[in-house]
Order: sequence, then structure tokens, then C-alpha cells
Amino acid sequence: MARANAAYYATHDPFADFVTAPELTQVFGELLGAWAKYVWRVMGAPDDIILAEAGPGRGVLMADALRVWPMRNVHFIESSPRLRAEQRARVPFATWHERLETVPPGPMILLANEFLDALPVRQFVRRESGWCERFVHEGALVDLPSAYDLPDDPVGSVREVNEGALDFVRALAARGAVGLFIDYGPMESGVGDSVQAIRAGEYADPLAAPGEADITAHVDFAALKRAVHAQGPVKQNRFLSALGLFERTDRLAQANPAKAQDLRQSAHRLTEPEAMGSLFKVLCVCPPDFATLPGFE
Ligand code: SAH
Repeated sequence: MARANAAYYATHDPFADFVTAPELTQVFGELLGAWAKYVWRVMGAPDDIILAEAGPGRGVLMADALRVWPMRNVHFIESSPRLRAEQRARVPFATWHERLETVPPGPMILLANEFLDALPVRQFVRRESGWCERFVHEGALVDLPSAYDLPDDPVGSVREVNEGALDFVRALAARGAVGLFIDYGPMESGVGDSVQAIRAGEYADPLAAPGEADITAHVDFAALKRAVHAQGPVKQNRFLSALGLFERTDRLAQANPAKAQDLRQSAHRLTEPEAMGSLFKVLCVCPPDFATLPGFE
């Protein structure tokens, strides 16, 4: 499935299939830009600060953030050549990387919206005989006995492990960077099959037509927090409200009456308690000596 998703991002415009927060309203990226600038000051305003983004999509979030915090030292971690071209159109001076490891050393603030959920998960099923790992073999699922260390859940339970996400936050923490992760997922680790595929805006079978659908899985924020020091997770509506989503939307709406209704609707969509507002969570990976950052009070 890892390769199927890479093939999907490399060949499709994922934004034809679903809408993400930065695509909904420019205020999202602007708030994150203001947040990053504040964090930079908390770090002592180092001259050589790197502003990075993982999985920047079409580059909209960064373009919006840079209006609030203009800076040149921008690094993108992006595997899709097609999306890199879109990002280059919006942030031409950025530097691109396949992986976090090649981003130069130095103080860094990293933003990531809906990045971790695009990384492949390992899936395990509890059978009578013990845990088995699920693999895709010739278009079908097969279970093979596994020695992976998992809780003693009831037979039939499914567990997911996102090793890519764990490795990513560990590498970030090891270099003393600050990382802001916004993604879909529960507050507590749990059981359940959360792998889903969206194809042309509709739910699809994750195993059908590999490379044609966007495959994601819920992010297990509690597992990330067990792996590294972090603030949160908090719900997206609490985070964005604390950062001034509604005030900024109002000011923008007053200045652009033609866009006012659109802006207000988008702010509402990002914070609706029954949808994006509470399903999406925000986690900040940062050094243990950091004061509580805005949005995490
Ligand atoms: N942050 C954007 C895009 C989210 S879609 C937004 O909110 O609109 C997921 C993004 O992660 C895409 O840019 C995709 O190409 C990228 N991506 C997925 N897997 C990746 C990987 N293993 N390494 C680097 N980038 C990856």
C-alpha cells in the first residue's frame, strides 16, 4: 500500500478528490505562519531558522504563512514530482527533500497538515492463535502470524502501527526541532481498521485499483506522544480558535465583502464540533523545556 499511495500522489491531483484546511481558507496558513513566528521568538529568534513543511500539497499553506512571516529559508519534504511543481509555482525559492534527514542542520520549525495520515500503516488482526499481520497479496488480504508486541485485545480486534510517523517525530525530536502536526485521528490509541481510500471524492475499496485512490489511516496521536515529548493533542477547533481564526476571518471578510460569506463558511467548517473541528487534532513536538505554546493552553 505504501507504493500505491506514492503512485497516487505522483500521478493525481489529490485536491480534486478531497478538500484540506489550507485549500478551504487562506486564514489557516496565515495562523500557522503567525504561530511559527511566535515559536521562533520563543527559540530566541535565531537568524538561521529553517521553516520546513512535510507534505506541502499544492504549497498553499506555506504561501499563506509566508505572507505573515516573510522568510527565505524554506524547506519542503515532498515525494511527488507533480506536487513539487505546484509547490514551486507558489514558493519558487524553497529547497526540496525526499526525506527529513537531508534538511540541513540548525534550528527548525516544521509544519505538517495531513502528512502523517498519508504514510503507510502496518495492520494486525487478533486471531484465536494470537496476533497476525495483514498483508496485501495479489489484490487480496492475507494474515501471517506475527510476534509484534501488541496489547492483549479480544479476538477479531485490529491494531494499526504507523512506523513512518513514529520515525519521523523521533528524528524531529532528536534534532531539537519544533513540529506542528495536524491530522485526523482519535485522542486515545484504540482498536479498529481506519484505512480508507478516497477516489474521485468517493469512498473506495483500498485494495481496488492501487495508485488510483488516496489511501489514509487515522493518526494515533497518543502513540506519537509516548514516543517523544509533545504538547497536545488538542482538537483543531480549540487550537484554531485560540490562534484567532474568527477574529482574522472577520477582519478579512470586512475588507473583502465579496468573499465574506465564503470565508465565514470555511472558518465554520474547520471548527464544527461534529466534523473537522473535533476529528482533527493538533500535536506539537518540541523540546521538554519549552513553555506552553499558543493553542495548547
Ligand atoms: N498538506 C497538504 C497536502 C496533504 S496530502 C494540505 O493540507 O493540503 C499529503 C501530502 O504528503 C502530499 O503533498 C503528498 O505528496 C505528501 N506525501 C505523502 N507521502 C509522502 C512521503 N512518504 N514523503 C514525502 N511526502 C509525502
